[in-house]
Amino acid sequence: MKEFDFIIIGGGCAGLSLAYELEVHEKLKDKTLAIIEPRQEYKKDKTWSFWKVAPHNFDDCVKKNWENFSINVPGKTNYLKCKNYPYQSIDSGLFYHKINSRLKKNKNISFFKDVAEISTRNSFIFNSVPEIKKNHLNLWQHFCGVEIETKKDFFDEEIFNLMDFDCDQRESVHFFYTLPYSKNKALIETTWLSTMNDNSQKDYDNQIKEYIDKHLKIKNYEINYKEEGAIPLFYPLYKKEKNKINIGTAGGMTRLSTGYTFLNIQEHSKYIRENIENISNSKRFEISKKYRFLDDIFLRVLNKHPEKMSDIFFKMFKTSPKTVIKFLSNKSNYLEDLSIILRMPKWTFIKALFY
Ligand SMILES: Cc1cc2nc3c(=O)[nH]c(=O)nc-3n(C[C@H](O)[C@H](O)[C@H](O)COP(=O)(O)OP(=O)(O)OC[C@H]3O[C@@H](n4cnc5c(N)ncnc54)[C@H](O)[C@@H]3O)c2cc1C
Repeated sequence: MKEFDFIIIGGGCAGLSLAYELEVHEKLKDKTLAIIEPRQEYKKDKTWSFWKVAPHNFDDCVKKNWENFSINVPGKTNYLKCKNYPYQSIDSGLFYHKINSRLKKNKNISFFKDVAEISTRNSFIFNSVPEIKKNHLNLWQHFCGVEIETKKDFFDEEIFNLMDFDCDQRESVHFFYTLPYSKNKALIETTWLSTMNDNSQKDYDNQIKEYIDKHLKIKNYEINYKEEGAIPLFYPLYKKEKNKINIGTAGGMTRLSTGYTFLNIQEHSKYIRENIENISNSKRFEISKKYRFLDDIFLRVLNKHPEKMSDIFFKMFKTSPKTVIKFLSNKSNYLEDLSIILRMPKWTFIKALFY
C-alpha cells in the first residue's frame, strides 16, 4: 500500500486550506501528501463570511465586501460601520476551484476517496472529520439560506443585515441574516441557536418564504441557490494522538459564541505550515482560553435565557463596531473585552457561572 509523508482526511474548507498553504509555501516540493475526500464532485455548497481582521489566501474568491451593517430587534435598528474590518463573503465554488486547480499541478499530491486505500502507518495525519457524540444539551447554530434574484431592484447592496430578530422566536434564539450581493440579488438565511432536539424549527422553507413575502414584501423573485447546515456550538471529541492533529471544526476552530470558523481555519493552516518540519512536537493551536471561558458563560446564558438574547446581542453592538468585531474575531485586548462585558446584564452573567 502506498505511503505518504502527510495525509489530510477531509478535503473541505480546512483540509484544502491547509493543502493550499503548504503548497504555495513550497512545503510539498519533496514531501508527499494524500487528500482523502469522498465527495464525487466539488460544487458551491457554502458561503463563508467573516470580518476580515487578518490576511488570508482567498481574496480572489470573495463575492462581496461590505463596510456597513445593521442589527435589529423589534422597533429598533442599529447601523454600524466596519471600514477597518470589512465583512467578506467567500464563494465556496470559487474556493474549491482555485485550490484544486493548483494542487493538481503537484505530482506529490494524490487524491483518494477512502483512507482505507492507503497506508497510514508512517504518515502525519491532519483530520478534519469531527467525532460528534449526540447529546441533547448541546447547542447548535442551524440555518438555511437561499440566494434570491428579484425582478426589480430591491436591496441596498452597501449594507448587510447581520441579525434581524424581528421574527418568531419559538422560545429559542432566531434571527434572519441578509447579504445583499447587488440591488437584485441577496442571500437570505434563517438562523437558529438551539439544542435542535427535534425538527420543530426546521420548517426553513416556510420561514424564509414568509420573511421574503411578508417582512421584506418582495413579490417577484427566483431562488438561484440554497444552502443548509448546522455548526456545533461545542467542541467535538478530540483525542490526543501521536502523529495526528485535528483541523477545522474537528480541531476546535469554531468560535462557539458565533459559529465563525473560516478565518480561524486560515490561521491554523498558517501555524501548521510554519511548524511543519516539527509538527509532532508543536504546541496544539487553539482559540485562546479567554474566549473559550467567555463563550462558555455566554452559551450558558443563551441556554437558560433564550428570550434575553436578542437584547444581549443588540446591546453588545452598542459598543464601538471596531471593538465588537475584534472581540467576536478573537483579536480584542483586555480593555476591549471589558467594554463588551460591561454592556452585558451583570447578574444574569454572574449567575451563569454557577449553573
Ligand atoms: C452551510 C454552512 C455555512 C457556513 N458559513 C460560515 C460562515 O459564513 N463563516 C464561518 O466562519 N463559518 C461558516 N461555517 C462554519 C465552517 O466555516 C464550515 O463548516 C467549514 O466548512 C468547516 O470546515 P471543515 O474543513 O472543518 O469542514 P468541511 O468543510 O465540512 O470539510 C470536511 C470534509 O470532510 C469530508 N468527509 C466527510 N466524511 C469523511 C470521511 N469519512 N473521510 C474523509 N473525508 C470525509 C467532507 O466531504 C468534507 O469535504 C459554515 C458552515 C456551514 C455548514
